[in-house]
Amino acid sequence: MSDHSQLSYWLENYGPYKPLPALEGDLEVDVAIIGAGYTGLSTAFNLCQDQPGLEVVVLEAEIVGFGASGRNGGFSMTLFGLEPAVTKAIFGHQRTIEAHRYMERAVDYVDRLIKNHDLESDYWYPGFLRAATTTGYVKRIHHDLEILTSMGITGLEWLEAQEIRAEVNSPRFLGGWWEPRCGLLDPAKQARELKRIAQASGAQIFENSPVTEIERDGRFTLSTPRGKVQADKIAFATNAYSHLFPQLKSKQVPAFTHMVLTDPLDDQHFAEIGWKNRQGIEDARNLVHYFRLTIDNRLAMGGSDVSIAYGLDMDRDLNQRIFRDLERDITWLFPNLKGIKVTHRWGGPLSVPVDLAPAIGFIGDQRAVYSLGCVGHGVSMAHLNGRTLADLILERDTDLTEVWFVNRRMIPWPPEPLRLLLSHAIRGYLRIEDAIYERGLAVDQ
Ligand SMILES: Cc1cc2nc3c(=O)[nH]c(=O)nc-3n(C[C@H](O)[C@H](O)[C@H](O)COP(=O)(O)OP(=O)(O)OC[C@H]3O[C@@H](n4cnc5c(N)ncnc54)[C@H](O)[C@@H]3O)c2cc1C
Repeated sequence: MSDHSQLSYWLENYGPYKPLPALEGDLEVDVAIIGAGYTGLSTAFNLCQDQPGLEVVVLEAEIVGFGASGRNGGFSMTLFGLEPAVTKAIFGHQRTIEAHRYMERAVDYVDRLIKNHDLESDYWYPGFLRAATTTGYVKRIHHDLEILTSMGITGLEWLEAQEIRAEVNSPRFLGGWWEPRCGLLDPAKQARELKRIAQASGAQIFENSPVTEIERDGRFTLSTPRGKVQADKIAFATNAYSHLFPQLKSKQVPAFTHMVLTDPLDDQHFAEIGWKNRQGIEDARNLVHYFRLTIDNRLAMGGSDVSIAYGLDMDRDLNQRIFRDLERDITWLFPNLKGIKVTHRWGGPLSVPVDLAPAIGFIGDQRAVYSLGCVGHGVSMAHLNGRTLADLILERDTDLTEVWFVNRRMIPWPPEPLRLLLSHAIRGYLRIEDAIYERGLAVDQ
């Protein structure tokens, strides 16, 4: 048995977990995938489905779902990067449309995958509310809606305060956007169900098998503590851990986001809050709050500030100040939950490129691929990125491999200590902008 249960409520709630054996000895395969989160498992599944007989191995340092995939909020949603206005400001009109279309496809892809393969991941499809909690955020959400509707994107609508409160009764909600396209799932169950279908399709998966070195001499040789894999092609599905590999060192850095979870809400709570349709909800901050119900009626709330790490430090999961802030924010949003017990607190790493947008691509001569940088919106995307990586590995030109963030030029993160300074500067900017919106000082855009 392996005890990773303290890493998140989802991993704990799953119960005892027996990992697959670690790699022992040497293996020769066609494709080796590093990392068993949604990206790595989806890549393996798609490769094996597309080309039965292809030898595919997944090497996971810890257990399936150890990274963000076993700890996230479980929102399968269309938001790309930080938010539409930021994407448009950095990448322009056309690329924002393309990104949104990719994300719509990602949400539909997850929905179909779960239904077609009977994945038992406590999934439901309640839609998404992006709630404005100050007059500044009312303006921000209207602005984002205008951007998206001016691009011909449909299916999003503005709800007035009384309309959103009729769904979920928080006295803080001043309006918001409603988007039917959003599913909620149990992240750890989803990761382990992906493991099941990847294995059933023919992929070999080894847990507790960290890749410690990659050598290239014609083929790739991946070393783990007790065995080596030789492969023609490799995929880095290592997201927020990618900077630990020299090949990807400057493409992204980790930032840690945190979650808290309450005792189950009772009938009295629901009588006051409503929330019958059990939607996923985010507010409109840059340093967003995201909140949802679990299958057993607990309130899960994540986000607020992020923790930033220095150098190779990946030990930033627990931040007592942010946990306190989140607990305070629950009763700020829902005063009738005052006194409810918080039973779980955890965190996990997000992958952050300098320009806050995802990237997929080749490294060198197209025999190695990577996917990273989903920031806080990677549940649906990581699944579809696995499909896209499979196309790249199989040397297929598809509409997925044509999308602009495949093989896009990235701004490199500088080395430490400049990296830390730049991370703090970006976070500081996001916080100041949030403070402006919170004081209602935002000017019309
Ligand atoms: C607390 C939290 C809440 C979030 N909430 C949401 C949400 O509600 N909706 C949303 O869309 N997104 C959310 N996200 C983001 C989302 O979870 C991620 O974008 C997504 O899970 C990334 O999947 P992945 O497979 O690319 O990476 P990961 O799941 O992080 O997988 C990477 C894997 O690589 C392994 N690895 C690393 N180094 C090595 C090595 N040397 N050898 C072998 N294996 C290695 C790691 O152990 C890990 O298992 C959240 C993230 C966090 C942390």
